[in-house]
Amino acid sequence: VSKNIQRNHFQVFDPSISDRFKQALTMETDLRKALKERQFELHYQPQKEMNSGRVVGMEALLRWKHPKIGYIPPDTFIPLAERSGLIMEIGEWVLREACMQNKRWQEQGFSPVVVGVNMSVKQFYQKNLVAQVAQILQETGLEAKYLELEITETIAMAHEEFILETLRGLRNIGVQVSIDDFGTGYSSLKYLSIFPLTKLKIDRIFLDGKQKQNLAIVKSIIHLSHSLQMKVIAEGVETEEQVTFLKQQDCDEIQGYFFSKPLPVDQVTHLLCELQ
Ligand code: C2E
Ligand code: MG
Ligand code: MG
Ligand code: MG
Repeated sequence: VSKNIQRNHFQVFDPSISDRFKQALTMETDLRKALKERQFELHYQPQKEMNSGRVVGMEALLRWKHPKIGYIPPDTFIPLAERSGLIMEIGEWVLREACMQNKRWQEQGFSPVVVGVNMSVKQFYQKNLVAQVAQILQETGLEAKYLELEITETIAMAHEEFILETLRGLRNIGVQVSIDDFGTGYSSLKYLSIFPLTKLKIDRIFLDGKQKQNLAIVKSIIHLSHSLQMKVIAEGVETEEQVTFLKQQDCDEIQGYFFSKPLPVDQVTHLLCELQ
């Protein structure tokens, strides 16, 4: 580092920062291209109803099939898409694709399931979200009750009035809304009584039975959901033991590797066939 730079209080040059910046830029360009060139794909993870053992839902999980790198998991590019604002277009694509696919399954004769779509914070703050969702439902012909939007607790942290209006709008058209990764965010319990929500999704970190306190937390979340007339689903269920415990605690639904990983459309359709 030259003395000149230090004297002027310039930032010390760190090649790794510059590399990361370049990488991010390339990634953003790649992301734009991905949308245009249809490199995004939705995988679906089935959700099982505890009592009946039936598949009642499918969570749509975004995958980026990068031509050079292969499948890129959402956690690596969603934050970037959020920062660049590209999440709006990506999110709209996800919504339309998930609704279309769910309608297709119904047309193929499978018993109807609810498709869960993850919403990013920015996406949920769009002024025209309710209109956009209504439009997509109309276009695809999917009944609103078969769509569930998954929001996180962070969404509820600010702009209470605005969020409430959006949630009421969604309820008015008949769309369900769940809280994803429940228990890991910063939301206040106040919101659970104010917001019209249909389901809580217990985060998988609470399913780790080695931490004895977790059992108490899971019990409480299930109880809380039912007291507030909401359904409750456990995410990341991997073992028989967990299933047994959740059944004892009257958890409504389960989702996780124990039953099935997220699968591409053809494979998940195959699974639906086998279950018929
Ligand atoms: P999420 O919504 O909480 O989704 C559950 C994640 O847990 C998925 O990771 C899923 O593959 C994984 N999972 C499911 N069952 C198990 C299990 O039994 N064990 C373990 N260890 N993991 C399990 P994935 O697909 O990598 O997605 C990560 C996150 O990316 C999602 O978390 C969601 O927040 C976000 N995401 C995915 N798709 C979209 C999308 O279309 N839009 C937005 N905004 N976010 C998305
Ligand atoms: Mg989710
Ligand atoms: Mg989750
Ligand atoms: Mg998550």
